Amino acid sequence: MSPLPPLREVIARHGLSASKALGQNFLFDEQLLDRIARIPGSLHGERVLEVGPGPGGLTRALLRAGAEVIAVERDARCLPALGELAEWAPGQLQVIEGDALKIDAEAELGGSGHIVANLPYNVGTALLVGWLTSEAWPPWWKSLTLMFQKEVAERIVAAPDADAYGRLAVLAQWRSTARIAMNVHRSAFTPPPKVMSAVVHIVPALQPEGVRVAVLERLTAAAFGQRRKMLRQSLKSVPGAAEALERLGIDPTRRAETVSVAEWVELARALG
Ligand code: SAM
Repeated sequence: MSPLPPLREVIARHGLSASKALGQNFLFDEQLLDRIARIPGSLHGERVLEVGPGPGGLTRALLRAGAEVIAVERDARCLPALGELAEWAPGQLQVIEGDALKIDAEAELGGSGHIVANLPYNVGTALLVGWLTSEAWPPWWKSLTLMFQKEVAERIVAAPDADAYGRLAVLAQWRSTARIAMNVHRSAFTPPPKVMSAVVHIVPALQPEGVRVAVLERLTAAAFGQRRKMLRQSLKSVPGAAEALERLGIDPTRRAETVSVAEWVELARALG
C-alpha cells in the first residue's frame, strides 16, 4: 500500500476542526491506534463495523490489520477524507453517513462481524446497552472493542461491592466476558478530554439457560434504581421477587450492589 498523507494534514486540508457537540476527540498516534486494532485478535479478512470514524485514524489501523471495514459517521464534514481512504484501500472500506443509534447495524455488517468504536460516551453507552440486550444469543456481533471514559469502563467490568457495580456490569457480564484491555491517557486525544479513557473488550459467552434478558433488565433496573435500599424494598415493584428471594435463600435485607452476577441470573431464572 502506498503511504497515506499524515492525518493532521488531512484534517487541515478538509477543515475538520473537532466539534464539541459531536463529542469529537481525535487520535493520531499510529502505534496506539494499531494496538487498539489488535485488541479483537486478528482482523485479517474479518468484517468490522466502525462507529464514528471521524477523520479515519482508527479506520486506517483497522485497514492496516486487513479488516473489511463498514464505517458509520454522522458528521458529513468527514466524508471526503473517508472517501479518500476508501480509494486508498479499494474494496476494503465502505462509508455510511448516518447516526449509529438509528441504523440497522446487523444488516449493514451483512449479518456478522466485530464492532470497534471510539465514540462520545453517551452514544457509546446507549449503543452498548442495545448490543448487550440482543434477544438472539450468541448475538450477530463477534466482539466489541469500545473506547469509554475510564469511569464508564470501570462500571462495565465492576465486581459486586464496588461503587461502580450496577446494571451495566450485570448486563455486560451475565453472558459475556468484559475486560479493560487498555487505559488511554487524555493527552493522546486532540483536543484532550477532561478525563482519562479506557478501551473495553467484550466477547459473547454462553447464555445461562432459562433466563430472559427482559426479566434481568427489569430486575436490575428496579434494584439498582434504588441501590441504597434493601432488596425487599427496591424489588417491591417486581411481581414474584419477594418469593424468589426467599426460595433462593437470598437475604432480602441485602442491597443490590452486594448481589453477584450469578445471583442475578438465578433470580431472573426464578421469575421466568
Ligand atoms: N474514531 C476517531 C478517532 O478515534 O480519532 C474519531 C473519534 S471521536 C471521539 C467520535 C466520532 O464519532 C466523531 O467523528 C463523531 O462525529 C462521531 N459520532 C458521534 N455521534 C455519532 C453517532 N450517533 N453516530 C455515528 N457517529 C457519531
